[in-house]
Amino acid sequence: MADDSIAVVDLDRCQPDRCSYECKNYCPPNRTGKECITLRGEETDEGQPEQVRISEEICLGETCGICVEKCPFDAIEIINLPKELQDDPAHRYGENAFSLYGLPAPQEGKVTGILGPNGIGKTTAVRILAGELEPNLGRHEDEVDWDDVLEAYRGTELQDYIADVRDGEVTVARKPQYVDQIPETFDGNTRELLEQTNERGALDQLVERLSIGPVMEQSIDDLSGGELQRVALAATLARDTDFYFLDEITPYLDIGQRVTAARLIRELAEEENKSMLVVEHDLAILDLLADTLHVAYGEPGAYGVITPPKSVRNGINEYLSGYLENENMRIRPDPIEFEEHAPRSETRGDVLVDYPDLTKSYGDGEFTLEVEGGRIRENEVLGIVGPNGIGKSTFAKLLTGNLEPDEGDADLDLDISYKPQYVTIDQHMRVDAFLSSITDQFGSSYWNTEIAQPLQLERIMEQNLSDLSGGERQRVAIAACLSDSADLYLLDEPSAHLDVEQRVQATSAIRRYAEQQDATVMVIDHDIYTIDLLADRLMVFDGEPAERGRASPPQSMRDGMNEFLANLEVTFRRDERTSRPRINKPDSQLDKEQKSEGEYYYA
Ligand code: ADP
Ligand code: ADP
Ligand code: SF4
Repeated sequence: MADDSIAVVDLDRCQPDRCSYECKNYCPPNRTGKECITLRGEETDEGQPEQVRISEEICLGETCGICVEKCPFDAIEIINLPKELQDDPAHRYGENAFSLYGLPAPQEGKVTGILGPNGIGKTTAVRILAGELEPNLGRHEDEVDWDDVLEAYRGTELQDYIADVRDGEVTVARKPQYVDQIPETFDGNTRELLEQTNERGALDQLVERLSIGPVMEQSIDDLSGGELQRVALAATLARDTDFYFLDEITPYLDIGQRVTAARLIRELAEEENKSMLVVEHDLAILDLLADTLHVAYGEPGAYGVITPPKSVRNGINEYLSGYLENENMRIRPDPIEFEEHAPRSETRGDVLVDYPDLTKSYGDGEFTLEVEGGRIRENEVLGIVGPNGIGKSTFAKLLTGNLEPDEGDADLDLDISYKPQYVTIDQHMRVDAFLSSITDQFGSSYWNTEIAQPLQLERIMEQNLSDLSGGERQRVAIAACLSDSADLYLLDEPSAHLDVEQRVQATSAIRRYAEQQDATVMVIDHDIYTIDLLADRLMVFDGEPAERGRASPPQSMRDGMNEFLANLEVTFRRDERTSRPRINKPDSQLDKEQKSEGEYYYA
């Protein structure tokens, strides 16, 4: 009997019609006649073999783990919970289901952040605080009500809040995580949607700051991802409630738009004394946004723990170091480390290619891109930054030959492996079959260690491409791009749809691959930490989005960041302990000094 262990059965994976109950047949307590693994009975469709349940009282715990090994579908997890975790869970979705420990505490006038991988219970926590999900403290739902929950949180920061939720007195505005789903629930144009939410009289200002004006009369059905995200932010922040919960604010937004969204959220907290709770995977933006931070850790899909609040600086530093100090908890074997100084790569590497000046217009010159010719060096990672709609993807398509330039010759005689921004691999084919058709390295120990593991592909190998989520599809597409043999690897927004942990893992996989294979890589991305960790040099796009774009030749990171951030009027300082970049407050002493010296990034 292991008090501190939990058994989790993933009912989407457990397929007893395709196995012969190996888990149950090999379980040691079962073999001595105990009822450790049993059949669920009533809960399955008629005629289907029954799925299993595991008794946490009888189970011997993680050191046994025989059922985990035996299950052909990876449906079972037996986990010894950390010793430090003494409290009851806040919520458990049922027997052998996910449990959440701890809850975040929103505070008046503050922005509270939650940082952690997907599947760790962040949305569950937000739903509890929004009063949408009644927490059960891990007990059977008949045995618990709001009064028990209140009792459990008596004496904590959440006591008053929970009393208000119980009394139905908490008002909440919530921005959903998946903005792509908004058109399914709303019929009408942007103006109609926003006017319904104009409770504070702040709508005009939000529309202006988020540059929504041009799409006010457009049908919600016709908005792009970035437009939907900004409309959803405006709709949430326009409301007049006590609490604002925002589940990811950066997807589809460029860096300037991310900074604007973060500042609007901060202002609402500071000026109107509201409580804001934000889940976010872009660390530079989370750092700018939040006052305090709860780190979420555990085993995605099995259990999650929300830590007590930390300062945003310490929270992110501890997260990157892989070790949570107060919790005495290692969450990753290796730290993520940043360089304080710009990479010295100016003189390194032979020339891979010199590309000439190029221009490309769409339609009757509605949008024109001008590319100033430049040089790509062998074995470098070239970062590409610039606002949305400025021609970055157009440039990628010119290089790969998917588009013909109007002027200039883009035929570079290079073999290019290209991951487009919008990944459209959705054939009816399994992930393993797809990837093994790309590389004969598939399944080798090198490929497993360098590609499959950091991109977390093991658990999705047997799934069909068409059934993958956005983040899963992104990881398969990055793997496919890197696995191909090519002269140049071009990745358009690899961080999109990835959670914070997947981002840092994918980033280090791309970086290591480039170093070990002497590969030349170009990466377009809006996540500053991704660009900082990856790039040796930088290519900057500017101009007027959707009208004209101009691409500078590749330049050093220092010069490139200075050009790019001067356009945005944003400066960064370096964290003393970890050297990670942190956005300065506008008009702070450092911000002014750095601007006057022209040092926006490596001050
Ligand atoms: P996050 O927001 O961190 O991605 P969630 O709170 O959405 O995490 O989910 C955490 C875990 O809880 C997931 O593994 C999910 O499968 C499980 N889960 C979510 N909703 C339910 C539900 N209604 N019933 C059973 N399990 C659920
Ligand atoms: P970025 O990658 O920097 O976001 P893109 O290269 O995708 O920018 O697009 C630049 C501009 O060109 C945008 O205004 C976009 O709407 C427009 N555009 C992109 N592809 C086409 C096309 N096939 N036809 C017409 N306009 C396009
Ligand atoms: Fe049985 Fe527990 Fe061992 Fe699984 S881990 S085989 S449930 S004792």
